[in-house]
Amino acid sequence: PGASEVSAARGAHRAVVRQPGLAGLVARRISAWFGDHQVLDRVSLTMAAGQVTALIGPSGCGKSTFLRILNRMHELVPSASLAGEVLLDGADIYDPERRLTDARRQVGMVFQKPNPFPAMSIYDNVVAGLRLTGQKASRAQKDILVEECLIKAGLWREVRDRLRQPGGALSGGQQQRLCIARSLAIRPRVLLMDEPCSALDPTSTRVIEETIQELVAEVTIVIVTHNMQQAQRISDQCAFFLAEQGTPGYIVEHGATDAMFDSPQDPRTADYVHGRF
Ligand code: ADP
Ligand code: MG
Repeated sequence: PGASEVSAARGAHRAVVRQPGLAGLVARRISAWFGDHQVLDRVSLTMAAGQVTALIGPSGCGKSTFLRILNRMHELVPSASLAGEVLLDGADIYDPERRLTDARRQVGMVFQKPNPFPAMSIYDNVVAGLRLTGQKASRAQKDILVEECLIKAGLWREVRDRLRQPGGALSGGQQQRLCIARSLAIRPRVLLMDEPCSALDPTSTRVIEETIQELVAEVTIVIVTHNMQQAQRISDQCAFFLAEQGTPGYIVEHGATDAMFDSPQDPRTADYVHGRF
């Protein structure tokens, strides 16, 4: 058999059914609560494969909660509940038949504050996710993976000679790129980024933006940002979240980034993207 037939056979046992035309992440009518406090109200959004989707909006409107729903971290909070559906390439990530680690493996997350394991070496940080998701790899396979992921995260040249140094010894921008490399090592299909540059200087921010634009060819990216210039520089699609006067967050408007910034349909979007909030 040809190589593609072999890989098709190897993937056949997986629960994930790839449906052409449904590539990417689709959230349908997502509502979310902490206890009886509703924080999201029927949010629907398609985050297309091969694109960067930016989530924008004021603090407290549920952007981080929405991201955590996309990789099943929301349910880690005991008081949390949700309604709605999340489809990854057409398959429901909340399907009870589907393993939780499966969803978390396919949808990686990078946070605002870089959080490498500080005492662990750069090398071990990159491969840490393998053990957490129950994947085995030989030393040689890990060597290749570490190099590949550090190259993709734009960090290889800076750290190739000191892979045994602790992750905590790197600068903030380098630590964030290490976290990106760590996420990539488990080969996610989607990378969620929650204000990944907010704690970084402008130079590190630029490096990460370049990294994002290269990565998106192979990993769908959803990024929360408060930086409107950044949203315009790197995103293809944009969704504007809002929570008014104690009401739960919802999407006011979404669409192609250029259209959102040049000709927003809703006056509140215009006010927000032009910094009048
Ligand atoms: P954003 O990321 O847009 O700033 P969040 O998703 O962090 O918004 O928060 C949305 C709402 O949910 C806020 O009212 C916030 O106080 C509430 N919230 C977030 N996390 C929790 C939690 N763990 N327990 C209770 N309420 C929470
Ligand atoms: Mg947030």
